[in-house]
Amino acid sequence: MNEDRELNRKLKEAVWVCRSLFDRGKTSGSSANMSFRHGDRIYITAGGTCFGTVEPEDFTPLHMDGTPAGGKKPSKEWPLHMALYKKSESTEAVIHTHSTYSVLWSFVPGTEERDCIPEHTPYLKMKLGTVGMIPYEKPGSPELFAAFRDRADQSDGFLLKQHGPVVPGKSVMDAFFCLEELEESARVAWELYRAGLDGKR
Ligand SMILES: [Zn+2]
Repeated sequence: MNEDRELNRKLKEAVWVCRSLFDRGKTSGSSANMSFRHGDRIYITAGGTCFGTVEPEDFTPLHMDGTPAGGKKPSKEWPLHMALYKKSESTEAVIHTHSTYSVLWSFVPGTEERDCIPEHTPYLKMKLGTVGMIPYEKPGSPELFAAFRDRADQSDGFLLKQHGPVVPGKSVMDAFFCLEELEESARVAWELYRAGLDGKR
C-alpha cells in the first residue's frame, strides 16, 4: 500500500514535469522521454508519448536489464536512461529532450568535450555539474548508446550533439531542475556567442 502511494506520488510529479516542459516549449511533438526509478524497476515514457498529453499509464516499467515488466512499449532511447541508473545508485530520475538552445549550442565548435557549456552563470555547476558532449550518432542506434556508455563516467550531465540533453537527478524534481538549468545555460551561452561576446566577468 505504501509502495503504491510512493509510486503514485512519483507518477504525479513526472506527469507534471512532462506537461510543464511541453507547455513552455522546452520540448515539442513526441521527441522527449523521461524515467524514474522505483524499487528494482525503472518507469519510462512509452514510445511516441507526447509530453503535452502524457498520463500516468504512459510510464511503462522495465527491469534493470532493460526487459519490459508489462505495460506499453518503452521509448527506444531507454538505454541512455539505463546507463545513468547503472552509473550511480543515487540516480532516481532521467530526462531527455530535444530542447532548442541545447541543440543549437551543440553545433558550436571547439567546446570542451567533458564540460561543454561555459560557466557564464554559476547555477549549472551548482545544480548539475559538468556537461559532457556526446559525438553525433543516429538516434536510437547501438552506436549512440555505446558512445554514451563510454562517456557516462566522465561528466554529470550530457548533451548529445545535434540531438539534445540527457540529465540524471536525485529525484524527479531534481532531474527537472537540472534539465532547466542546462537549457537556460545553453541559451545564455548561445546568445552571448551570437552577439560576439565571450561572457567573461
Ligand atoms: Zn532523442
